[in-house]
Amino acid sequence: MRNDDKILQEYYEQMGISGGVFSFCSKIEKKLEERFARIDQVAECNQMKVLKAMQDNHLSEACFAPTTGYGYNDIGRETLEKIYADVFHTEDALVRPQITCGTHALALALMSQLRPGDELLSPVGKPYDTLEEVIGIRPSDGSLAEYGITYRQVDLLADGSFDWAGIENALNERTRMVTIQRSKGYDSRPTLSVDRIGELISFIKERRPDVLCMVDNCYGEFVELAEPSDVGADLVVGSLIKNAGGGLAPIGGYLCGKKECIEKAAHRLTSPGLGKEVGATLGVTSALTQGLFLAPTVVKGALKGAIFAANIYEKLGFTVIPDGTCSRHDIIQEVEFHDPDLMCAFCEGIQAAAPVDSFVRPEPWDMPGYDSKVIMAAGAFVSGSSIELSADGPMKEPYAVFFQGGLTWEHAKFGIMMSLERIVRTGKLKNIVT
Ligand SMILES: *Cc1c(COP(=O)(O)O)cnc(C)c1O
Repeated sequence: MRNDDKILQEYYEQMGISGGVFSFCSKIEKKLEERFARIDQVAECNQMKVLKAMQDNHLSEACFAPTTGYGYNDIGRETLEKIYADVFHTEDALVRPQITCGTHALALALMSQLRPGDELLSPVGKPYDTLEEVIGIRPSDGSLAEYGITYRQVDLLADGSFDWAGIENALNERTRMVTIQRSKGYDSRPTLSVDRIGELISFIKERRPDVLCMVDNCYGEFVELAEPSDVGADLVVGSLIKNAGGGLAPIGGYLCGKKECIEKAAHRLTSPGLGKEVGATLGVTSALTQGLFLAPTVVKGALKGAIFAANIYEKLGFTVIPDGTCSRHDIIQEVEFHDPDLMCAFCEGIQAAAPVDSFVRPEPWDMPGYDSKVIMAAGAFVSGSSIELSADGPMKEPYAVFFQGGLTWEHAKFGIMMSLERIVRTGKLKNIVT
């Protein structure tokens, strides 16, 4: 072992990582060098894309001044929205602290475009859990269903491919909007690449050019060189406490897309007649903007963490989705434990590795919007932020943990080592690390 490695191991030892876990993980890291170099390059391109948008739109110190009250003529808000539109190559954008989370951003996108009698189609199977209540798949107060907006779903085929015939059949004269979830969310299907999303949108637009295509871009931003808006999406939507906020945004969501779609969304967010003109930013604009600036680098670290975790748990014989060699289209890593104890141990390790609340133990709870108990590990600077190192999952078969984030690669790596340390300590691991 080189001297530097020895020093490193000592630091990890102080943090509770045993020699066995350290050397097992170090070997895996070595094998990933080439892949990591490619990820660095994507981040470099995306960094230039973001920087150029900031320069082109004359981002200035004056943009960071807080506004209050109505927030008319908020130059920082207007500049940030132009920057988002440029980064996503769209006509316009709505980027607001008044959008409370990703679900809110998606609900806003759907409710602003759809009218009674319209139909929404998901050609990629079941949407993210919280959207079931927005749509009314699970009856809920204020859902689209209550407003007479119907929903149709075409599942992916068993091999993960699109059911082209099923999609063609499902399109009808009432179909007004298509919702495409890029990330697999709490599901075991593959995440969609931007290319595949492009194929799907082309197929739909060839048949029905008037149908709006929206992409739920949560966890996908800056993972690839292109975004869904580069391949025909009319609207892309996401949360600022995931990728796009770079870990610095304390709140917020974004919608980027066609001018007409953004206008409709603004009228739904504030009020008909007011639209984008109001919405004080209360001093958060600098965090939202600086967060976007850091986002490509932060996503890079999170992506390396996901790949590192996949390779470690695959080597130990668990099913990991995506697998260790698969190309990546979001920052989520699923590990299936088929055992509630191992799932909890994994989450305890992630929690113990956190900079905040490292001393608490995560426990399964009945989280609003989900239909089974959920365990969540997160010790974040921004509450609930899942671009920060976090792990969660519903407490039901296959007892799968969904792992994501890490503001730095170094921290993501430590979190994964800590998760393994806790799993080893359960004594349940068959091919034990020594
Ligand atoms: C996180 C997420 C959402 C919902 O975002 P919240 O901020 O948790 O409300 C929706 N869709 C996908 C794919 C997500 O990952």
